[in-house]
Amino acid sequence: MLVNAKEMLIKARDGHYAVAQININNLEWTKAVLTTAQELGAPVILGVSEGAGKYMTGFKTVTAMVRAMDESLKITVPIALHLDHGTYDGCKKCVEAGFTSIMFDGSHFKIDENVEKTTELVRLAHDNGLSIEAEVGSIGGEEDGVVGAGEVADVAECQKIAALGIDFLAAGIGNIHGVYPSNWKGLAFDALENIHKGTNEIPLVLHGGTGIPEEMIKKAISLGVSKINVNTECQLTFAAATRKYIEDGGDQKSKGFDPRKLLNPGYEAIKLTCKEKFELFGSIGKA
Ligand SMILES: [Zn+2]
Repeated sequence: MLVNAKEMLIKARDGHYAVAQININNLEWTKAVLTTAQELGAPVILGVSEGAGKYMTGFKTVTAMVRAMDESLKITVPIALHLDHGTYDGCKKCVEAGFTSIMFDGSHFKIDENVEKTTELVRLAHDNGLSIEAEVGSIGGEEDGVVGAGEVADVAECQKIAALGIDFLAAGIGNIHGVYPSNWKGLAFDALENIHKGTNEIPLVLHGGTGIPEEMIKKAISLGVSKINVNTECQLTFAAATRKYIEDGGDQKSKGFDPRKLLNPGYEAIKLTCKEKFELFGSIGKA
């Protein structure tokens, strides 16, 4: 059931669990996430970066695939189709293409410009029934070529953006996209607490969910994080399972080169990663 993400995240915040955003790259990814969510009764958000959207030949293709799969797989759990780290133009395209949720990442703009663009996109999103996420304080690591330094968001800036009527807020709390370096300092829980209290408890989003220790994830959820983004981890488990299949000679056995067989171990690996995340985030049975 394709819906916007507002209600599922308010339920998550009030119920002290987090909804996973799993980024998708192709049909196998989408099918793996939707099937697992349905099997486990978990709400889920399908994340699409602008790069992944382009790879799948455009946002309209993505919407058509997700809507059709929602129907053919008879998905009854709430799922949202969400633009991840959208540009101003990308957000507009996704509204037009039929996404149910967008993230506008204006974190690299000066706060006044971030406020101005976010204000406009909040109106556009809400007029069309979409939920909208905004970002304050860049998130470390690399996402589609944009490199952030892992900064911690300023509470006053978070308040400013939250007050614009956005539905959920991504605030940097020392989190990083991609694989965490060995000298990483960990999440800034004091900042998280202050942001949670200072923004009238707007549902908060933790980006860069891959490789954060489980205890830190649980603590972050207890302090108001309601959505956790997972991207790199599915890529790593998909690649490892595919590598194993080929190294074990799977593709050289009878019809093992059939793409449906070749891609199956990676598909199963994504399903397992989704299940592990839903368990860790507490979202199983919460649909
Ligand atoms: Zn992110």
